[in-house]
Amino acid sequence: MLKNRRSRLKRFFEDYSLDCVLFTNLHNIRYLCGFRGSEGALLLTRDGGWFLCDSRYTTQAAAQVGEADVLEFMSKQDTIAALVKEQGFLRMGFEAAHATVAFFTALSAALDGCELVALGAELDDIRSSKDADELQRLSDVAALSSAALMAIRPLLRPGVKEVEVALELELEMRRRGADGRAFDFIVASGVRGSMPHGIASEKTLQAGELVTIDFGAIKDGYHSDETVTVAVGDPGERQQAIHGIVRTAHDMAIAAVRPGIACKELDAVAREYIRESGYGDYFGHGLGHGVGLEIHEKPVLSPRGDAVAVEGMVFTIEPGIYIPGFGGVRIEDTVAVTADGCRVLTPAPKDLFIL
Ligand code: ZN
Ligand code: ZN
Repeated sequence: MLKNRRSRLKRFFEDYSLDCVLFTNLHNIRYLCGFRGSEGALLLTRDGGWFLCDSRYTTQAAAQVGEADVLEFMSKQDTIAALVKEQGFLRMGFEAAHATVAFFTALSAALDGCELVALGAELDDIRSSKDADELQRLSDVAALSSAALMAIRPLLRPGVKEVEVALELELEMRRRGADGRAFDFIVASGVRGSMPHGIASEKTLQAGELVTIDFGAIKDGYHSDETVTVAVGDPGERQQAIHGIVRTAHDMAIAAVRPGIACKELDAVAREYIRESGYGDYFGHGLGHGVGLEIHEKPVLSPRGDAVAVEGMVFTIEPGIYIPGFGGVRIEDTVAVTADGCRVLTPAPKDLFIL
């Protein structure tokens, strides 16, 4: 399985005439070799490689890293330099987007006769289309997270603090087997709803308010991401109208997902509809983002994103309208691109519940 993932690197070896590629980003390392610790490096050739770590991780790495030799280091750059010299490598690619200046300087100084070749963030593209194992994990964690939301819905009533909602939701996810929350949940009620990233506060929910809840779980390294906006008691006409517009924009974008469509075109489908409805000034962020080993990863769905949807990609569709002093609505699903459309992984209903 991981061998298949490594075959996605083939073009980097060819395009840049490389002998090896050095990975230091832990998400990419986990993806390519299975290591789940917090420090290490992976040096890959076209058909093999080495995993390097300090003594804290040698036992764990031996169990997790199936198809690469494990080497222990005291100094990461010196061990890499010695290995590169022993193998006679002349050109080594590295993840320029993830290396610090300090590490790059130390590695450059340690290397003797091997050229460092900066590879761009396009290396992260290798993770944007998910394999069957990843799709299953993403689907499972999304289902768990949605079920947790449905279980705590009775708590959404006037007088309850936003932080209590966030805490109960996280507890419920953990009871159902999550390793933890994917990010600090957003629970934004009433006027706080105008803040797209309004993390749960001490504010209590009031009758007649909308509450935006943006939540997700993490399990086996994979994340889920979903947002509902619900009404606590009877919402006003304008709130219902705005919810309806966001819901339609969301549904239209999901209906447009298929292999071959540009991600910026998906963004435009939702953005145009919101603009035509008179709220174009109130949707400031991109339509969505990839979800996987990171909560925000490639592809980017925005007016500037240059990715094209391919089968196996998993990303969010999350239009919103945020009106300062009034409140806001966001509706978010995570979808997996299929051969002829997409599958929604996050099953919690997206209607405006009147609780
Ligand atoms: Zn979200
Ligand atoms: Zn999101």
